[in-house]
Amino acid sequence: LLQLFIPLGFLGIVYRQIKYAIADMDLVFKLLERTPEIQDRPTARPLRLDQGGIRFERVDFHYQPERAILRDLDFRIEPGQKLAVVGHSGAGKSTLARLLFRFYDVTGGRILIDGQDLRDLTQDSLRAAIGIVPQDTVLFNDSLYYNLAYGRAGATRAEIERAADMAHIRAFIESLPDGWETVVGERGLKLSGGEKQRVAIARAMLKRPRILIFDEATSSLDSHTEQAIQQTLSEVAENHTTLVIAHRLSTVVDADRILVMEQGRIREQGTHRELLESGGHYASMWELQQREGGDAVVLQGASGEN
Ligand code: ATP
Repeated sequence: LLQLFIPLGFLGIVYRQIKYAIADMDLVFKLLERTPEIQDRPTARPLRLDQGGIRFERVDFHYQPERAILRDLDFRIEPGQKLAVVGHSGAGKSTLARLLFRFYDVTGGRILIDGQDLRDLTQDSLRAAIGIVPQDTVLFNDSLYYNLAYGRAGATRAEIERAADMAHIRAFIESLPDGWETVVGERGLKLSGGEKQRVAIARAMLKRPRILIFDEATSSLDSHTEQAIQQTLSEVAENHTTLVIAHRLSTVVDADRILVMEQGRIREQGTHRELLESGGHYASMWELQQREGGDAVVLQGASGEN
């Protein structure tokens, strides 16, 4: 019996850690088959995806009842638009993504996709509609082909190659002596940070999702790679409803809307221009960046203690 418990306990810890980091959420679900806390209602229906519009309606959320994390959060992401969320560490940015993927249910208000409350939907249909590019990509000790194909069970070779094209990693893969059969991961070829992110982008694109979540890595790549990855992300995000958890100002400037979060609330929102004109917290962060001349200011470092 103990032998049964140890691995299960271990999985629980791994699950919680990965969940905390919103690392490869899809992977965790596949390993564990389902989210323990979240069950489909007996009446759950598949998501009827139309344009992919997202609405957070007066959302409250806590992990533990004694500590509110999100408070009365109200915003929309119009179909095909890009919303960037910024704010200092612990403001609740990643929690938004976790709720949208329904790792947890809201404790107040509701989240709707194309007018449908997430709690009325089957988890499978919801997660099939959302592609995630996580901060850290989990690679299997297996071929590059396997590592990309994992993005969607049943994908054809042509689809996998197309996803690799979109992520601009196909030429790199095909230039390797073993090409698609190159083994990566701990015991294989170590991919660079940028290459790993491209694998993650390809995996996400393989799902052909209507909705994309980018959890931007906090550790910076060299600035050339960084820019190239950002360029690829904006290409693939075109025509997708996109939520970006952003750590760099350069990522948010072109967003259709920016949410500045502080302690689980929206402190300011608007376009880059609107936020600069209003002269608030975002504008000060921007000024700070201009003064310091940094290319990749990590917003969460410019904390909102005032
Ligand atoms: P960062 O930029 O550092 O990633 P964030 O804005 O994304 O921060 P969240 O990860 O959303 O912040 O966390 C918001 C708050 O919720 C933090 O105070 C964090 O400690 C807490 N929190 C996150 N996950 C859990 C959990 N599983 N259980 C309890 N508290 C949690």
